[in-house]
Amino acid sequence: MTLPHVRNIVIAGGGTAGWMTAAALSKVLNDRWKIVLVESEEIGTVGVGEATIPIINVYNNALEIDENEFMRETSATFKLGIEFVNWGRVGDSYIHGFGPLGPDIGITKFHHYWLKMHQAGTASSLEDYSVNIAAARANKFMRAKPELGASPLAEIAHAYHFDAGLYAAFLRRYAEKRGVERLEGKIRSVSTRVDNGFVDAIVLEDGRRIDGDLFVDCTGFRGLLIEQTLKTGYEDWSHWLPCDRAWAVPCRSVRPLTPYTRSTAHGAGWQWRIPLQHRTGNGHVFCSSFIREEEAAQVLMSRLDGEPLADPRMLKFVTGKRKKLWNKNVVAVGLASGFMEPLESTSIHLIQSTVSRLATFFPDQGFNAADTEEFNRQSDFEFERIRDFIILHYKATERSDTEFWNYCRTMPIPDTLAHKIDLFKANGRVVRENAELFSEISWVEVMLGQRMAPARYHPLVDALPEAKIQSFLDNVRETIRRCVDAMPAHSDFVAANCAVDARVLGSKATMR
Ligand SMILES: Cc1cc2nc3c(=O)[nH]c(=O)nc-3n(C[C@H](O)[C@H](O)[C@H](O)COP(=O)(O)OP(=O)(O)OC[C@H]3O[C@@H](n4cnc5c(N)ncnc54)[C@H](O)[C@@H]3O)c2cc1C
Repeated sequence: MTLPHVRNIVIAGGGTAGWMTAAALSKVLNDRWKIVLVESEEIGTVGVGEATIPIINVYNNALEIDENEFMRETSATFKLGIEFVNWGRVGDSYIHGFGPLGPDIGITKFHHYWLKMHQAGTASSLEDYSVNIAAARANKFMRAKPELGASPLAEIAHAYHFDAGLYAAFLRRYAEKRGVERLEGKIRSVSTRVDNGFVDAIVLEDGRRIDGDLFVDCTGFRGLLIEQTLKTGYEDWSHWLPCDRAWAVPCRSVRPLTPYTRSTAHGAGWQWRIPLQHRTGNGHVFCSSFIREEEAAQVLMSRLDGEPLADPRMLKFVTGKRKKLWNKNVVAVGLASGFMEPLESTSIHLIQSTVSRLATFFPDQGFNAADTEEFNRQSDFEFERIRDFIILHYKATERSDTEFWNYCRTMPIPDTLAHKIDLFKANGRVVRENAELFSEISWVEVMLGQRMAPARYHPLVDALPEAKIQSFLDNVRETIRRCVDAMPAHSDFVAANCAVDARVLGSKATMR
C-alpha cells in the first residue's frame, strides 16, 4: 500500500543550513513538492563557517554548480589542507593535507614504508610525500588533472574558503530560481497535532500560518522546532571538547593568498585564519573556564596579520549533538542538529550529509519508524566519528604549559578513539570503519603531526629490500617536488580564473 506523499516542505531558517537544504531539495524534487523557507533578517545568521573540506564538491557537482562562478560569487579561495601550529608542542607546525600520500604497494599503505625509512633517518618529513601539503607550503595551486593518470597532479584534492553571507545569497538565488518560496518573518510559535505531537504549522509574528507535512529545522543553536517544541534533548560533549566560546573578526587581507586554513593553538583554545579574496576571517575558539572573555579577545586582536575591519563579536556554544536529528516529522540540519568545533571544518559537511541522508530516507505521510531510526543511527555514527577525530587534536599533545592543556592531555576519551590510538601506537595501523568521514591518511597525518609515534611499522614492509624502498620514496618525493615547481601561485590561479567581481561585494558580504 502506498501512503500519500509528503507534499509541503517547510524549512525554518535561512542560514547556510537553510539555503543548502533548499537548494539541494529544489534540485532533487520537482514541482509536485512545494518548498517554503522562512527566515528573519532581523534575527540574522551566525555569519561564520567559511572553511570547507573536499567533499563539498560532491554537493556542488550534484547541483551542477560552475566552480569559477561559485568562487567569484562567494569571494572564495582554494584550500588544500589545514596548518596546525603549536598543537603537539609550542613551536610545532604540520599540515593536515587533503588527498593522498605517495602510492601504496599492494595491500601495504604508503606511510608504513615511510615509517621504516624515517626511523632509519633516510626519509624526510611526511609532508614532502603529499602533493597537497607540498603545494600548500609553496603557496601553489592548480586543479587536479585526472587525465594525467599516475601523476600526483591527477590527485590534488581541494576545498574552499568562502564568505558565509555570500554563500547563502548564492544558494538562495539558485533555490528561488527552482521554485523555492522565501518568506520573510519571525516565527512566533509552532503548532503541533493533538493526536501524535507532529508539527503541523509554524506561525509568524504577523499571524501568517504556514502548514506543512515535513519540517526542516535550520534555526541554528536555538533549535526552535527540534528542541523548543519537541524537547528532543541534547548530548553534551563538552567534557571532551571543552571550548565553549569564539570571538570572530575579519581583517584586511594580506598577500600571498595561502591555499590553506591556519589553526594556531593558544593557552586555552586556538585561533583560525581563513583567507578570502577580499578579507581574512579570524577567530579565537576558547574555553571560558580557563581564560576570561576579554583576555581571549585581546589574544585574537593582537595576532591578526592585517588591520581589523570590524569589532570582534562573540558566539557561545555547547559542543554536542541533538539526541535525535529526526524526531516525528522534524529533521534538524546545521547548528540545530549540534555543533562540534570548527577545527576540521566539518559543520558544512554535516549539513550536506544530513540533507543527502534526508533525500535517501525521504518519507511519505506514514513517517515509517524504521526509516527514521536508521537515519538517526547513521547520523549518530557520523557525528561520533568526527567527534573522535577532533578530540584527537586536543588529547595527542605534549603541552603542559597551561591548565587547559593539562586538562586536555589527561582527560578520559571515548573508547572508540582510545582503540584507534592503541592500534596506531602499536604498529601504525588505522582502521576506517564503514562510512567514517576521515580517511586513514587524515588520521595518520594528524597523529604523526601531533608527535604520536608508532612503535613498529607493518611487517610486510620488510618483504622489500631497503634499497628498493629508499629509491621508491626518493622517486615519490622528487616527482612531487617537480610537480609543485610547475604549478602556478595560488594568487595567480585565482586572479586568472575566478577573481571576485567588485559588484559581488555589496550588501551580503560579511564584514562583521
Ligand atoms: C565560531 C564558529 C566557527 C565556525 N566555522 C566553521 C567553518 O569554518 N567551517 C564549517 O563548515 N562550519 C563552521 N561553523 C559552523 C557553521 O557556521 C554553521 O554550520 C553554518 O553556518 C550553519 O548555520 P545554521 O544555518 O545552522 O544557523 P544560523 O546561521 O544561525 O541560521 C539560523 C537561521 O534561522 C533563522 N531563524 C532563527 N530563529 C528564527 C525565528 N524565530 N523566526 C524566523 N527565522 C529564524 C535565522 O534568521 C537564520 O536565517 C562555525 C560555527 C561557529 C559557531
